[in-house]
Amino acid sequence: MYKSIIKTMKDVPLEEFYTSGHRTCQGCESAMVMRYLAKVAGPRTIVVGATGCMYVANTTYYTTSWVVPWVHTQLGGSGAAALGTSAALRALMRKGKIKEEPINVIVFCGDLGCADMGLSGVSNAMTYDYNLLIVLYDNESSANTDIQETSMTPYGAQTSFSRPGTARRIMKRRWKKSVVPMIIAGHRNIRYAATTTPAYPLDTMNKIKKALEIGGPTFIHSLDPCPKGWDYDPMYSHELGTLSVETGLWPLYEFVDGKLIYNEPTKGIVEGRVKRKPVREYLEKQGRFSHFTEEDYEYFQKMVDEMYTSWEIPGVMPIKSVIK
Ligand code: SF4
Repeated sequence: MYKSIIKTMKDVPLEEFYTSGHRTCQGCESAMVMRYLAKVAGPRTIVVGATGCMYVANTTYYTTSWVVPWVHTQLGGSGAAALGTSAALRALMRKGKIKEEPINVIVFCGDLGCADMGLSGVSNAMTYDYNLLIVLYDNESSANTDIQETSMTPYGAQTSFSRPGTARRIMKRRWKKSVVPMIIAGHRNIRYAATTTPAYPLDTMNKIKKALEIGGPTFIHSLDPCPKGWDYDPMYSHELGTLSVETGLWPLYEFVDGKLIYNEPTKGIVEGRVKRKPVREYLEKQGRFSHFTEEDYEYFQKMVDEMYTSWEIPGVMPIKSVIK
């Protein structure tokens, strides 16, 4: 179905379009997502970035890591900027002002810029027939202003603005929002949406490539381990990414032309071939959960178990738990 799927690391383009000059933290997985997307998309690409830590880190005065054109948009403006950029390209080509050729428009936005205050604009962008890809880089906090809680912050995680107290140990009580299912359910004509995490580079690059090849408005949600906000040694970034999938907490899947496809190892978990690791293995490695008691670990595990035992579509659609 797709002509040029990247099968091994040897097939990955050597050229870099997101290169040195950025100031992300050591071990930053969001920086890997930027690198992958620029590599796969190639030089005929415009990157649009909403305010977030990846904006702050990549555009220090007089330096930038972007080799391709890059535009900054306000925190809630990523959807509008994506539409505007795609529409402008189409109009300029129609009027003969620029050469007619495929130009990728890729927007990246973080928790606040995509899943919270930027969500209405992102949803609007999904309702028009323009070619654009929106990438939600999810470090589970608002990190350009230190570490602040967002709707993506997991249950119980402490942030620098919400420390556990003596009267109330768990400050974040609500479960993390599921963004891709919202996008799929709410935008019937969308042809491609997916989850990924940069610990699986081929998975991430193939999903970016597929989204760009399929075209139309497309969406990818990447879970990006963040040493600063999650409080762990940067050497464990990839390990935490794989654990998020192996524990079942972060299912990998793609929605292609109306079909849901699970990707390994999530496919094995859903089909019962692979046993989920205890979620505790993932939580214990992060300082943001250091206040957890046995009861908290058990509650967290119960919630993850329910994703596979009680949800309408395992790990994706929590409809049954809502109507029970
Ligand atoms: S705060 Fe987290 S996501 Fe932001 S640059 Fe640092 S490691 Fe990356």
